[in-house]
Amino acid sequence: MSPEEFRKWGYAMIDWLADYPERVERLPVLSPSAPGDLRKTLPNQAPEQGEDFSQIFADIDRLIVPGITHWQSPNFFAYFPANTSGPSILGELLASGLGIQGMLWATSPACTELETHMLDWLADLCALPQAYKSTGTGGGVLLDSASSATLCALLAAREKATLGNTNRSGLHQNPRNQDLVLSTPHRIPKLIAYTSDQAHSSVLKAVRIAGIGEDQLRIIPSDSQHRMDLHALKAAITHDLQAGHLPFFLTATIGTTSSMAVDPIQEIAALCDQHSIWLHVDSAMAGSAALCPEYRHHFMGLDQAQSYTFNPHKWLLTNFDCNCFYISERQALTSALSILPEYLRTPSSESGEVIDYRDWQIPLGRRFRSLKLWFVLRSYGAEKLREYLRAHMEMAKRFSTLVRTSQDFILVAPVDFSLVCFRHQAGDAFNEKLLNTLNQNGKLYLSHTKLDDRYTLRLSIGAAQTQVHHIETAWQVILETAQRLEH
Ligand SMILES: *Cc1c(COP(=O)(O)O)cnc(C)c1O
Repeated sequence: MSPEEFRKWGYAMIDWLADYPERVERLPVLSPSAPGDLRKTLPNQAPEQGEDFSQIFADIDRLIVPGITHWQSPNFFAYFPANTSGPSILGELLASGLGIQGMLWATSPACTELETHMLDWLADLCALPQAYKSTGTGGGVLLDSASSATLCALLAAREKATLGNTNRSGLHQNPRNQDLVLSTPHRIPKLIAYTSDQAHSSVLKAVRIAGIGEDQLRIIPSDSQHRMDLHALKAAITHDLQAGHLPFFLTATIGTTSSMAVDPIQEIAALCDQHSIWLHVDSAMAGSAALCPEYRHHFMGLDQAQSYTFNPHKWLLTNFDCNCFYISERQALTSALSILPEYLRTPSSESGEVIDYRDWQIPLGRRFRSLKLWFVLRSYGAEKLREYLRAHMEMAKRFSTLVRTSQDFILVAPVDFSLVCFRHQAGDAFNEKLLNTLNQNGKLYLSHTKLDDRYTLRLSIGAAQTQVHHIETAWQVILETAQRLEH
């Protein structure tokens, strides 16, 4: 593509994207596509001769849009949001145009330094522990997802529990090598991880990927408010200690996926501290709320957590992917993940003066993700971002008030942030039918979960364009649809 053509189609694409937010409200939120619909329309083979870009461009509306579920629709209430915004899209565009790889400081110093700086900015904006800042013993990194962050936290915790951080004299003594473990005369205690039955599935996935047996993960039951049950946790730890096991890792959640419940972090942290268990806190969605001081009481106890993660790519106007992962002792992480082949040796790395983020993540290569964060934080400013988050949380309160006034619906979880969990009194089958009917008509999109073993509707607020009137209309549509189905 010539620079002139790129300019032409670049402008056209920006025009298309600039119109999209205005258009999206009129499109069915959930894609009406049936399985195979798109593939039927695509040629079986890639083209031998290049096509004119005008044909490709026309196919965006013709082929792609019908297969899109519009996460940017103001009536998208299904999953936690996947925010985007003008500045963020421009940041993505610049990152792709620069086309750099930020694996080492030396492979593009600005990529590393802007990232470190943005994570420090966010740590301050969210009043996170000082230890998570680059000036302390820890630091932050941008990863692709909260799932990766939890896996990295688990690996760092295992490193710390099995090696200590300082006495590693070489790979040949690494007890992670199973053969060596088996031949060691002293039995190495079984590592045990803990989480609640409300934790995100990424915790189990991390355990599997790390090669820690699923029988080494204790799923602690939750209480009536879907928070990790402390008595059950204490009992499990005691039981494991008595059996000679080594409790080493616990994932607690601030804002669970099902109901945005908040685990009792302070009490859990005290227990973890007592037994030298690495505490990892997953606040993938709710984490953005920490920008607002009046929501920070939910984050108390975080100063005792060894690691923490949240997703600006959910609710902070920054495109997927953009996950913040903070750790209080960076050495545990880099010691778990650093491998240095000759071809990656650079003078700056050897000097120890710089961060090489490849040692903070699973892959080697990395995108210039901090540009979009930099653009977002600068162009909105903290005040506007706080207003944005508050508005969504006010809308959730408004919706919960509407639910409370109804005879037929009940709220089934506290509304602390931006999610409302509710159900019709008529039972599971009715709620399921209601959800399917609502989603198929295209006016809005909700999702469901099971709470207390009952089918529960989730109205998750957080799309950038959602306004109070969308919430009120959603409630009307839900009420009318339920009434229609009752007859
Ligand atoms: C969304 C979510 C995740 C997963 O986030 P990814 O970035 O998609 O991996 C993990 N934990 C919680 C609590 C979530 O809400």
